[in-house]
Amino acid sequence: MKNKTILIVDDTIANLDILVELLDQYDVIDATNGKDALEIASTEKIDLILLDIMMPDMDGYEVCERLKANDKTKYIPVVFITAKTDEHSIYRAYDVGGTDYITKPFLPKELLARVKKELKMQDLIDELKFLSSTDPMTKLYNRRYFTKISQHIFGLATRENQDISIIMLDLDKFKRVNDTYGHRIGDDVIIALANIMINSQRSSDVVCRYGGEEFVILLPNTMIEEARAVAEKLRKTVEAANIKLENGEELKFTISLGVSQADIKNDINIEKALNQADIALYEAKKSGRNRVC
Ligand code: GH3
Ligand code: MG
Ligand code: MG
Repeated sequence: MKNKTILIVDDTIANLDILVELLDQYDVIDATNGKDALEIASTEKIDLILLDIMMPDMDGYEVCERLKANDKTKYIPVVFITAKTDEHSIYRAYDVGGTDYITKPFLPKELLARVKKELKMQDLIDELKFLSSTDPMTKLYNRRYFTKISQHIFGLATRENQDISIIMLDLDKFKRVNDTYGHRIGDDVIIALANIMINSQRSSDVVCRYGGEEFVILLPNTMIEEARAVAEKLRKTVEAANIKLENGEELKFTISLGVSQADIKNDINIEKALNQADIALYEAKKSGRNRVC
């Protein structure tokens, strides 16, 4: 597993030196003021921040508030390390978003233990986020995550005046696959399709298992003509693929796809665009399957 990176922020060099030595099992980056800390936190991958409170220019509270106000840094846990021991200061540290509070002088082993606990919590949170946002069978995003992220992407696209397209797709005559070959082979087909989508997606595309054998791809910054080309390419790739069965036979399968575009100017939000893609998909099914509408 990759080493964790801890950012230490303190205006007193001697304090930094002590912490750097104590935390030598981790990758450590140090900063002597709030401005540098904010810059590092938003450009590097930081797992934990140890933050002094009393610093000239920008104090630790303000640094923490700014970290929490920035989407890029708001999930990094912040542990305050400070000489201030009054209850008002402690209360305020948690109030601005700190996750722990350690007073100076600290016990080195206790500080290490608290850092470890914080990093462990972070790992657990990451794992929960992964489990709650993905479908275990295909490792694609699930519908819950799609609903959340698509609203977020739509918000960004609206502000930047960008196009978003949607592809909805569904396996053709899939019931027959289950009935003929069994549910387990049916699962293999779904996984094979998911892998084809993962391998052909662009980095900004969001691929999601929307229902049992139904999938949605959200294409940010993409106009409908381009999305149609992406859909057609995917259709052909699936058509050319096959699954090897135990008896040596090859199982082929196809998909039907519906394409639509969200359009803020004409009041087409994600929900409406999904609905239109669904209608287009139905059209593709009705007009013979293995096609894009
Ligand atoms: P169409 O071309 O009109 O889409 O026909 P179809 O048979 O694919 O459509 P229908 O919606 O009637 O059937 C979908 C089937 O997909 C029914 C369901 O049992 C199966 N299915 C859904 N999820 C899974 C899954 O996770 N694994 C397997 N093996 N089958 C699934
Ligand atoms: Mg200080
Ligand atoms: Mg189907």
